[in-house]
Amino acid sequence: MVTHKNIVVVGAGFGGMYTTKRLAKKLKKNHDVTITLIDKNPFMTMETSLHEVAAARVKPEAIEYDLQRLFSRRKNVNVVTDEVFQIDRENKCVMAKHGSYPYDYLVLGIGAEPNDFGTPGVKEHGFVLGNIEDAIKLRDHIDDMVRLGARERDPEMRQAYLNFVVVGTGFTGTEMAGELNSWRPELAEKYHLDPDDIKITMMEMAPTVMHMLDSSDAAKAVKYMTKHGIVIKTNTGVVGVHEDYIDLKDGSKYPTHTLIWTAGVKASSQADKLGFKQGRGGRIIVNEYSQIPDDPHIYVIGDVALYDEDGTGRGQPQVVQGAESAGKTAWKNILAQLNNQDPVKFKGNYQGFMVSVGPAWGVAYLLNTFHLSGFFAILMKDLVDMIYFIEIYSGYYLFHYIMNEWFRIKRPTLWRRNLNRYGNVLWTVPLRIFLGMMWLVDCWYKVQGSGSWFTNKLQLHFPWLVQATSGASSKASATSAASNKAAQSAPAMFSLNYDYGHSPMPVFDQMPLWMQNITKVFIPNKDVALAAQKAMTVTEIILGLCLVLGFCTFLAGGLSAVFVAIFCLSGMNYWVNVWMVFAAIAVMNGSGRSFGLDMWFVPWLEKTLGKARYGVMRPIYYGNTNSDKK
Ligand SMILES: Cc1cc2nc3c(=O)[nH]c(=O)nc-3n(C[C@H](O)[C@H](O)[C@H](O)COP(=O)(O)OP(=O)(O)OC[C@H]3O[C@@H](n4cnc5c(N)ncnc54)[C@H](O)[C@@H]3O)c2cc1C
Repeated sequence: MVTHKNIVVVGAGFGGMYTTKRLAKKLKKNHDVTITLIDKNPFMTMETSLHEVAAARVKPEAIEYDLQRLFSRRKNVNVVTDEVFQIDRENKCVMAKHGSYPYDYLVLGIGAEPNDFGTPGVKEHGFVLGNIEDAIKLRDHIDDMVRLGARERDPEMRQAYLNFVVVGTGFTGTEMAGELNSWRPELAEKYHLDPDDIKITMMEMAPTVMHMLDSSDAAKAVKYMTKHGIVIKTNTGVVGVHEDYIDLKDGSKYPTHTLIWTAGVKASSQADKLGFKQGRGGRIIVNEYSQIPDDPHIYVIGDVALYDEDGTGRGQPQVVQGAESAGKTAWKNILAQLNNQDPVKFKGNYQGFMVSVGPAWGVAYLLNTFHLSGFFAILMKDLVDMIYFIEIYSGYYLFHYIMNEWFRIKRPTLWRRNLNRYGNVLWTVPLRIFLGMMWLVDCWYKVQGSGSWFTNKLQLHFPWLVQATSGASSKASATSAASNKAAQSAPAMFSLNYDYGHSPMPVFDQMPLWMQNITKVFIPNKDVALAAQKAMTVTEIILGLCLVLGFCTFLAGGLSAVFVAIFCLSGMNYWVNVWMVFAAIAVMNGSGRSFGLDMWFVPWLEKTLGKARYGVMRPIYYGNTNSDKK
C-alpha cells in the first residue's frame, strides 16, 4: 500500500530554494508526495546582494523574490510563512510559531548570522549584514550620518559622523566597503560635501586581508580599493564599540558612529535550540550524505550545516556553491530513499570565487585556473547570479535581476551608465509620432489611386515574380523598384539625406542572392505576392497608428526597424531612408509609456499576464498559499 509522504523544507535561502525546486520538478507526477517550504519571510532574500541594499545601489525589493510567485505553477509545493523554533523528532513534526508540520523527510537550511564573538558594544552600537532588515537599517543610518555630519561645525564631531568603519575583510566586508565607496559621490553631492570628507576604513585583525582570495587577487583588490580612497588597516583589532567611537586593541580610540561588523559568521542561533550535535560556529554536524548522523530522515544543508569534508573540522565553505552542493545531495538522497536506491555522497562543487568592489569592478578566480579582475570579473559575478535563476527555473526574476542590476540603476555599473534607463524618454515622443506619420503617409499612396497595393497589379518587383509575369528572361527586366526609379532620373548619388537635384541611391540595386532565396520561400509566386503586398500595407498602417498613439510602442518600434531593414535588403529602399531603422530602435525606449496609450496599456497588461501566470497574490495572514493555485 502506498502511503502519502511529506517532505518539509525549512528555509527558502539559496540551499532550501534550490532543493525545493528540484524536488518539486522531479516529483511533479508523484501525487503521493507533498512538499512544504517554510520560511519566516514570504520571500527569498538574495543574501549575496545585501550590501547593494545597504549602500542604496538597489531597492530592497530588488533582492526579495516572492515565494508565492516562485511556486505558483508547482501544485505539489505548499509555501508557508512561519518561523520554526523546534523539531519534534519523536513525532516527526516541525514546530513553528503558527502551526506544526509533520514530515517524513526534513531538509533544514536556515542559514547563518553574523558572529561578533562577544565583542562588547557590537549589538548595541554596531551594524551587521545578516538579513534584509539589517541592510535597510544600515542604509538609513549611513544617509543619516552624512546628513548630520554635513551640518556639524565641530571638526572632530563631524569626522565621527563621516567616518565609516568596516570590520573584517572577507566577502561581506570587502563588498560592503566597495559598495559604500561607490555611494560616496552621491552622498557627498546630496549633502554638499567634498567626497573626501567621507572616510571609509576597513579594519582587519590579521596581518593580511581577504583570505578567501588567492594572494595575487587580494593584492589587486587592495590596490584598487586604496586607489579609490578606501583605507585598509591590518593588525587592527576592534575590541569595543560605543555610540561615537570604537576601542582598538592597541588601546587607542577611533571616532565613528558607524561600525559595520562583518568579521565572522556562525550558524543561525535557532540551530542551538533544535537539539542536534553542533560543531564549530554552532553549525549542525552532518555526515557525508548531508544527514544528521543518527537520523537519515533529516538533512541539513548550507551555512547552518557542517560536513567535515577535509578532516580539518572547519567544514565546507559557507558560500552559495556549498549550499547548492548540499542541497543537491539532499534532494538526490530523498529521491533515493523514496525509490529504495543507494544514497549519494556530498561533493563540494566550487567553481571559483568572485568578489565585487562596487558595481563596476571585482576580482574572480575561476575553475582554479583563471584570474580575472575589473569588467570580466564583475560580468562573471552577474552571470553566476543569473545562472542561479535558471537553476531555480525563474525567468521572471532573471528578467528583473537584469533590469535592476543593469538598467534601473543610476550608478555606473560594469556597462558604465550606457544601459541605465534614467534618461528623459519624453524627448523621443515627437520622433515616435513623426515615424508613425511617415508610415501612414506612405500608406496613403498605397491604398488609393493608380499605385494602390490593393489592386491586382504586382507592386513587388522581385526578379522571379517579374520573370514569371512578363516571360522575359533577361536579367535587366528583373531589377528592383528602387533601381528602376533611380534609372529613370539623374544618376544616383550616395547621400544620407536627399540632396536637391540628385537622385537618391538605393541601398541595394538588386536583392542579394541569399535574401532572394529566403524571400522565395515565403513569396513563391504572384498570387502570394499580391496577398503579401496587401498584408504589408495593412501592417504598415497598424504600425503607423501604434506609433502615433503610443500603443505597444516597443513592439511597433522593433517591427518598424525590421520592416525598414527588409525593404532595404529587398532593393526597395534608399540610403536616405535608413535613418528610420535607428529612429525605430530609439522609440523602443518606453516613449509610449511616457506619453501615449501605453501609459495605461502596459500596467494593465503586466497585471493581467501576472494574474494569469502566477494567480492572485494573497496576504500572508491567509495562511497556506497552495489553495489559490491554478
Ligand atoms: C553580504 C553578503 C555577501 C555574500 N557574498 C557572497 C558571495 O559573493 N558569494 C557566495 O558564494 N556567498 C556569499 N555570501 C554567503 C551566502 O549568502 C551564503 O553562503 C548563502 O546564503 C547560504 O545559503 P543558505 O541556504 O544556507 O542560507 P540563507 O541563504 O541564509 O537562507 C536561510 C533562510 O532560512 C530562513 N530562516 C532562518 N531561520 C528560520 C526559521 N527559524 N524558520 C523559518 N525560516 C528560517 C531565512 O529567512 C532564509 O530565507 C554572502 C553573504 C552575505 C551576508
